[in-house]
Amino acid sequence: MKLGILVLGVALGAVSGLAQSQPTVSNGSTNVPDVGELQKMSARFAPTEYRVDISKLSAGDRKALGKLVEASKVIDDIFLTQYWSGNHAEYEKLKKDESVLGRARLQYFWINKGPWSALDGNKAFLPSVPPQKLPGANFYPPDLTKEEFETWVKTLPEDQQKAATGFFTVIQRVPNKDQLMIVPFSEAYKADLQRAAKLLNEAAALTDNATLKDFLTKRAAAFASNDYYESDLAWMDLDAPIDATIGPYETYNDEMFGYKASYESYINLRDDKETNKLKAFSSHLQEVENNLPIDEQFRNPKLGAAAPIRVVNQVTGGGDGNHGVQTAAYNLPNDERVITQKGAKRVMLKNVQEAKFKKTLVPISMQVLAADERADLSFDWFFTHILAHELTHGLGPHQITVNGAKTTPREQLKELYSSIEEAKADVLGLYALQYMIDHKAQMELQDVLPAGADPEKKLYTTYLASTFRSLRFGLHEAHGKGMAIQVNYLLDKGAVLVRPDGTFAIDFSKVKDAVRSLAHDLLMVEANGDYAGAKEMLEMAVLRPQYQKALDRLSAVPVDIRPIFVTAEQLARSPGTGKKTSSTTKK
Ligand code: ZN
Repeated sequence: MKLGILVLGVALGAVSGLAQSQPTVSNGSTNVPDVGELQKMSARFAPTEYRVDISKLSAGDRKALGKLVEASKVIDDIFLTQYWSGNHAEYEKLKKDESVLGRARLQYFWINKGPWSALDGNKAFLPSVPPQKLPGANFYPPDLTKEEFETWVKTLPEDQQKAATGFFTVIQRVPNKDQLMIVPFSEAYKADLQRAAKLLNEAAALTDNATLKDFLTKRAAAFASNDYYESDLAWMDLDAPIDATIGPYETYNDEMFGYKASYESYINLRDDKETNKLKAFSSHLQEVENNLPIDEQFRNPKLGAAAPIRVVNQVTGGGDGNHGVQTAAYNLPNDERVITQKGAKRVMLKNVQEAKFKKTLVPISMQVLAADERADLSFDWFFTHILAHELTHGLGPHQITVNGAKTTPREQLKELYSSIEEAKADVLGLYALQYMIDHKAQMELQDVLPAGADPEKKLYTTYLASTFRSLRFGLHEAHGKGMAIQVNYLLDKGAVLVRPDGTFAIDFSKVKDAVRSLAHDLLMVEANGDYAGAKEMLEMAVLRPQYQKALDRLSAVPVDIRPIFVTAEQLARSPGTGKKTSSTTKK
């Protein structure tokens, strides 16, 4: 699963809530956007240079990284094919069009990896293309109906049924026959996958890290065999300076059935400083659990092992991984067999989060915070709160007893669970960090928590600004609803103040108690599996007029970023030499 929009990971589909405040898009093949409209549409994605410090990589790894950057471009080619059968021809045509309109079209095409605008409900922005993205993308024949597919699948033997509905096959019509056939990815994209496999094997030969070598070799073999199981297991064990994710993963583009995986790549470098911070926080989670603001009987005396989290900086991305709204974090793999055996791993793209912070959260703060409070906006605290959010998903009641029967909060709260759980993680994230600030000497966290004076002012003010970013994406899914519960609760407790000029502020004499009591309420709803209580809290998940007014002022703030992979391009221009490649992260 990937989380496109940063704040606390509001999911990809949530973007449509922004539509009202964005430039109108003309649709249909006769009435597509002109140059001015296209430029406005592109401007919603603020261009952002990705520069990553590769100076600490070994000589072998630096060369391997160059190979992986090349492989990532092959993934772009495969994804273009998967997304729409006309994509390559359209792309070639646009590349030759040197008019101003042609350039604007090409730029927006590349952002979307096709002729449909992701932020506008996937409507066409080019003439003479289907008016809307095809629900089945290019995984199925364009004229195939759901009924035809389902009827056909029932006629197949069991192993063929599995293949037809599997992640790694496409469905095509047998030429000149009224028949469907199953084509494995390894056949459908054979030439591209051979190119990619060659680059992966070359990178494997160059790196000196055994776990990376193992993953790349097995993934290259999977490109030929179409069996991704062993390489998914190797990916779970990957722990190397170069953190690579490359292959077919997410099924969002198959809107017909959600069966088929799109190729994507994220070529990243591990962030050792943040990884150490995570380790330090993790070692204190039991202590935070022991001090949760609920009765001792509801606390967990022995926390289980948490799922692994990696913090990385992205060098380049390809295919579905560089398409529309940029991914800020992802949870993989999706194969249940691998998850059962090894669990899943969460990868957080720190420099992507930072870019989104700079290009969207900072301009938001100009509208919603008073000038003297903007100085407390802190990326360090922003990112540390995201890490705390992820970790505190593991705290609080998970195994509960209701009417004498063993059950879970998820089972009891049903469709309300995600919103309550997301709000819980946000609020417990604040609570846990406050606890760590208060006990940093005993916990030896002085060098782990973000440096600088007034940590509380930075933590809560940054959190306050980020609430607007979350709410901007709408209240139709769990993260938005969870955030609306929080802001309204804090407003009612007087912990968030609205000034006459429409800016917002934290009341520091009230915020800690308010966070503590909200944490208590959310945790008790989970501890008791209290569906009625959850329902009551969710009645608070509305946008109040003060917030709506503030959000209306944000229409000119970019929605997301458009990466320019500077370090990757430097590597690509000097393949194998590693020269002219040292660049430092601007922090
Ligand atoms: Zn979460």
